[in-house]
Amino acid sequence: MLQQTQVKTVVDYWNRWIRSLPDIRSVAKANPTRIHKLWEGLGYYTRARNLQRAAQVILHDYGGRFPTEYGQVLALPGIGRYTAGAICSIAFNQPTPILDGNVIRVLSRLFGISGDPRKRRTNSKLWKLAEELVQQAARVRNHRPPCSHLNQALMELGALVCTPKKPQCDRCPVAKFCVALKQNRVGSLPTVSARKTTSSIHQVALVAEIRGKLLVRKRPAGVVNAHLWEFPNVQLGESSARNGAAKRQANGDRNNADSLRQSAARAFRMKSSDLSPLTSIKHSITRYRIHLSVFRTAHAPPKSAATAAGRWLTRTQLAKLPFTAAHGKVLAQFFNP
Ligand code: SF4
Repeated sequence: MLQQTQVKTVVDYWNRWIRSLPDIRSVAKANPTRIHKLWEGLGYYTRARNLQRAAQVILHDYGGRFPTEYGQVLALPGIGRYTAGAICSIAFNQPTPILDGNVIRVLSRLFGISGDPRKRRTNSKLWKLAEELVQQAARVRNHRPPCSHLNQALMELGALVCTPKKPQCDRCPVAKFCVALKQNRVGSLPTVSARKTTSSIHQVALVAEIRGKLLVRKRPAGVVNAHLWEFPNVQLGESSARNGAAKRQANGDRNNADSLRQSAARAFRMKSSDLSPLTSIKHSITRYRIHLSVFRTAHAPPKSAATAAGRWLTRTQLAKLPFTAAHGKVLAQFFNP
């Protein structure tokens, strides 16, 4: 849950999860829809699916007990080098290294390492350094548990003191060893490469309601937000954020409610007089900035790619399903305008 997500966001999710699925067996046996519902809003849903697959492997291959060997932990679905290192060092005090964004920043500054940490050469150098440090820690005799504490200390230092902006070097416990501080390079380390260009996407969605039932569909496997639910929607266009002309076009469309309604009507093969605007939502997925214009209708749309495999469900049924973040907001606004 904590990957790419802050602790304060996770606390409520964690409490809900542990109340519903308190052990490995219950996670392994849970209905996948329940897993998605408990994860709804946290994003990166592959993590939730992998968590369940890992629980199933632990149940079948290890009798329900979490493995303690690094190789076995690394082989579990969804667990990479960083997570395996964190589990083995923090839970079992093994000398396994960790390297996340916070640790990269601390090590780059502390040891004055330049070069893009995402590039193989610098990344390997940082992993090697993290490994040497945790192995040194394992030799410390009068501190228990040394590997666990070293790795947690590195993460906490990066999260609370050696922050990306305005690091608090004056209260840093390792300031006297810090190469970046000595060489006045704190602001330039770690080296960050140029961000990927963002793209703007404009989508239209349809909330069709007939006799208290709404038309929704489940996203297929293998796409972003796979297996989550949403209203039928269609992409109108995509433009690079650097492409001024395309952006102006998108903005122009946005400002022109009538032309937008006509575009939506064409996309869903309906009459524009059958559609009325419900809401519009802006959200981001990876490098995409998505503008979602939502229309409501009291007519059933004809069959199309957007409505294929759609299901008409009641409000009670909808409440049990996991929705994508944006379409969850649409649902909430529909029932609580
Ligand atoms: S002295 Fe400053 S730059 Fe160096 S590790 Fe501490 S907080 Fe980071």
